[in-house]
Amino acid sequence: MAKKEKKSLEFFTDWKYAPALESTDHIRLNKQYDLFINGKFVKPNSDKYYDTINPATEEKIARIADANAKDVDTAVKAAKTAYDKTWSKMPAKERAKYIFRIARLIQEKARELSVIETMNGGKAIRESRDIDIPLAANHFFYYAGWADKLEYAFPNRHPKSLGVAGQIIPWNFPLLMAAWKIAPALATGNTVVLKPAETTPLTCLKLAEIIQESGLPDGVVNIVTGFGPTGAAIVNHPLVNKVAFTGSTTVGKWIQKSIAGTDKKLTLELGGKAANIIFEDAPIDQAVEGIVNGIFFNQGHVCCAGSRLFVQESVADEVIHKLKNRLETLIVGDPMDKNTDIGAINSKMQLNKINEYIKIGLNDGADMYQSQCSIPKKGFFVKPTLFLNTSQSHRISQEEIFGPVLAIQTFRTIEEVIEKANNIPYGLSAGVWTDKGSRIFNMTQKLRAGVVWANTYNKFDPTSPFGGYKESGFGREGGLHGLMPYLKF
Ligand code: NAP
Ligand code: MG
Repeated sequence: MAKKEKKSLEFFTDWKYAPALESTDHIRLNKQYDLFINGKFVKPNSDKYYDTINPATEEKIARIADANAKDVDTAVKAAKTAYDKTWSKMPAKERAKYIFRIARLIQEKARELSVIETMNGGKAIRESRDIDIPLAANHFFYYAGWADKLEYAFPNRHPKSLGVAGQIIPWNFPLLMAAWKIAPALATGNTVVLKPAETTPLTCLKLAEIIQESGLPDGVVNIVTGFGPTGAAIVNHPLVNKVAFTGSTTVGKWIQKSIAGTDKKLTLELGGKAANIIFEDAPIDQAVEGIVNGIFFNQGHVCCAGSRLFVQESVADEVIHKLKNRLETLIVGDPMDKNTDIGAINSKMQLNKINEYIKIGLNDGADMYQSQCSIPKKGFFVKPTLFLNTSQSHRISQEEIFGPVLAIQTFRTIEEVIEKANNIPYGLSAGVWTDKGSRIFNMTQKLRAGVVWANTYNKFDPTSPFGGYKESGFGREGGLHGLMPYLKF
């Protein structure tokens, strides 16, 4: 940072918070995890295991089974038998009781689950404790309520379950994504085979233990760990009736191709490159906080992250000045510390990808500004980064980085910003900051994004549907809409 600029950042701080580490002595983790099939943990037919690590320390946490196609076949057959013999025959109000029980057990074990989520994924404990785990429990509570009310949800349409749902999830919200997928599938009477991401299997395996404890009939939920080929084996299994995928657009397109011509139902929740738009009449301080919440918390590992910032020209200097100030106060480091704002990047591979994009931004001629903070020597960390003077054609303005990197542009008119915001292959989410209600309604009509937040950002609720336009995928998760992909009429 230039000397002159450092002086002008009035909130620049040299003082530090004392560490406030969350304790880890209350958690129970095994050294090795097998596959959860038909209500039991079983050794993989592949006989292969891999290590899962803590991305903040690079230390090994446990050995995880790597399921092959034969293991997936066993899991899918267990799910099919459970569907035919038990789950599809059970009265809906009985199904609901199990889902409620899972929700309550998640609440009871929330502290342990939060710590494990942070250990395995790298996200700040504040995020997993206050957002991920409570929301995961809430999704089970919410969908438990729908289980015996499907006839009311879809009057005169006689909804029926599909059978076996194959579900594949990414590493950025491991337990929450599992809840988004499993809860509506169970509420609608389907059985499940789920694969967590290779880097973050642990909370899903703890969920398997919770499912055992809940007494859910064997085979109703099966959890198979592994890599891409494990996911592919689920997608291609002939007894799978529905595929629900959250992850990258590349893998999503591959899945869509591979099930073309079958009668499998499909929902895809894919990448994003959201526009966060600040008008001159916006409450600037709140907007700056919204920008930070939108892209820097959770290391930018959010598909709906506000990774493109559009600021109206008349307030650009003020917003950028305040944003730089705020950047300097963000604490990057040990995710287990309750003061930490930005934890570890999920994997070495993702860290390399983010650093590669930072280089691309510089080579393309954008001006970079990074926080002066220091980052730990061990583990995968990156400083929160702004790119100023970017244009629509810059790759950092077009491609999903999935890290704490913000590309900033200015605009003059509402027409200009709508055009720029929509001129992208993605359409998952957007943010609008303005004092004017009519402008908010105008923007929500014209922005091609599944979710548009107004004067807030990254707010989630189980009652509210979520999903994308264009290459961000199709189908909705959450709310009443989230039941539909698991039903036929
Ligand atoms: P990814 O590589 O697409 O992986 C997602 C999941 O698919 C993982 O479980 C992965 O297993 C599995 N997979 C990989 N190759 C597969 C194949 N050929 N067939 C079936 N499954 C396969 O994405 P990621 O790197 O984990 O996650 C980041 C991406 O997810 C970002 O693009 C982000 O925007 C997107 N995302 C979207 C949403 C949303 O709701 N729209 C939410 C979260 C994340 P492995 O882990 O073993 O590779
Ligand atoms: Mg992957």
